[in-house]
Amino acid sequence: MSITEHVTEIFERIGAPVAFSADGEIVCRTPIDGSELGRLTADTAASVADKVGEAHAAFEQWRTVPAPARGAFVRELGELLREHKDDLGALVTIEAGKIVSEGQGEVQEMIDICDLAVGLSRQLHGLTIASERPGHRMMEQWHPLGVVGVISAFNFPVAVWSWNAALAFVCGDSVVWKPSEKTVLTALACRAIAAEAARRTGAPEGLLQVVVGAREVGEALVDDPRVPLVSATGSTRMGKEVAPRVAARLGRTLLELGGNNAAIIAPSADLDLAVRGIVFSAVGTAGQRCTSLRRVIVHESIKDELVSRLVAAYETLPIGSPLDGGTLVGPLIDASAAQGFEKAIDQARSDGGTVLTGGTTAEGIEGGHYVHPAIVDMPAQTEIVKAETFAPLLYVLTYRDLDEAIALHNGVAQGLSSAIFTMDVREAELFVSATGSDCGIANVNIGTSGAEIGGAFGGEKETGGGRESGSDAWRNYMRRATNTINYSTELPLAQGVDFG
Ligand code: NAD
Repeated sequence: MSITEHVTEIFERIGAPVAFSADGEIVCRTPIDGSELGRLTADTAASVADKVGEAHAAFEQWRTVPAPARGAFVRELGELLREHKDDLGALVTIEAGKIVSEGQGEVQEMIDICDLAVGLSRQLHGLTIASERPGHRMMEQWHPLGVVGVISAFNFPVAVWSWNAALAFVCGDSVVWKPSEKTVLTALACRAIAAEAARRTGAPEGLLQVVVGAREVGEALVDDPRVPLVSATGSTRMGKEVAPRVAARLGRTLLELGGNNAAIIAPSADLDLAVRGIVFSAVGTAGQRCTSLRRVIVHESIKDELVSRLVAAYETLPIGSPLDGGTLVGPLIDASAAQGFEKAIDQARSDGGTVLTGGTTAEGIEGGHYVHPAIVDMPAQTEIVKAETFAPLLYVLTYRDLDEAIALHNGVAQGLSSAIFTMDVREAELFVSATGSDCGIANVNIGTSGAEIGGAFGGEKETGGGRESGSDAWRNYMRRATNTINYSTELPLAQGVDFG
């Protein structure tokens, strides 16, 4: 069966055929062999405005539904995602090039966040606060916010949407989603599934709108004053364009941008764990995760052993079609990603780096962009090491004492994910302390990628400062009201003010 036939079958099972149009501006492709799957008509500024209007109308209805009843819709969404897990996972593999278990893992992440959101739907609570005035009570309420704009990147075509949408829905919001123009089909499949969940539970169908297109469509969403929150996931470049536009209308942003994640490997590290953690984090999803490991900072006393074990592991990595069961490294998303990989390696070489393994084109499926993951030993943290190259390229830097390692670690503009491998409790605690890693995620004895949904996800500095998913991230999707209630017959003023 061809990949296109596979896609058609998946949409039939989901019950929502895709309206391909021969002259559509958006070309849906698979990175597996670069072939075209079909074309879609892009939204216009006018159609984006219409969809925001529909989402706003749905919000006005939805905010009156009690939160636990809103949870019933998200529970149904989670059930339907369970039912369609294999199909949605296959679409992720076809559109983003992830290996089968990672494609399915992404759908599992959607299911998990739905479960978390259903629980939350009974716990969206505020505080009761002691008032300084007699016969008064203060309290905080969290109210639905409005239409949430979600802009997502190609490398997590569905999970990022669900982190935002599942919470937004239980919080009483509607969502307008602009998926990456490289992964529109998975978004359309999710829209169909969410519409079915709405039909089954009586939720407004307009709760989820999908707008299709590239940055102009994103800009129309970003500029719409009826969208109080724009949650944008993608490159730091994109975040720097989106943030000032939303700020100009005093809207809120939740930014999840680029990372340049590092792991410190200390002398006491369990090297078996470290090698496994490094290899998964650096080459999983062909190095195309925001949390992918890009820098190893290793103590000079164990560098040779670590590097030789890493090189040995890299040289046996199965590279090829992500549809094949044994593959661990699939394709890069497109030609420009492959060029970025090559250019970064050339620059690292001219900065004095030595390529220890990989860095060349790999045999994969014709038409796709497959590479041998690279490890490059660097004499210093040069500009290219400080930049995020979205490909399986791992730099090795060497340190003598932990302060130097932490300085190197924090000496980049991004601040997403980080790790230390050590058996020394002092080193581990220092790394996760206020003077250790400056990232939003700091791990001990596990790699930088593969976060669970229970924790708040996001990073500092040029990663944008947003937090999604678990912990108290739900508060982003609500507005806080502070209420003071006077149940006395007097009208005392705060701070003892006397007004006649
Ligand atoms: P990208 O920035 O090219 O595109 C991301 C999304 O933003 C797409 O939907 C795109 O159409 C849209 N967009 C681009 N410019 C825009 C603009 N000016 N206004 C509105 N929308 C705009 O990123 P990508 O190549 O799809 O994804 C890779 C990047 O995303 C990497 O930098 C990666 O680290 C980052 N990422 C971060 C996280 C995180 O949680 N921190 C998660 C996934 C990916």
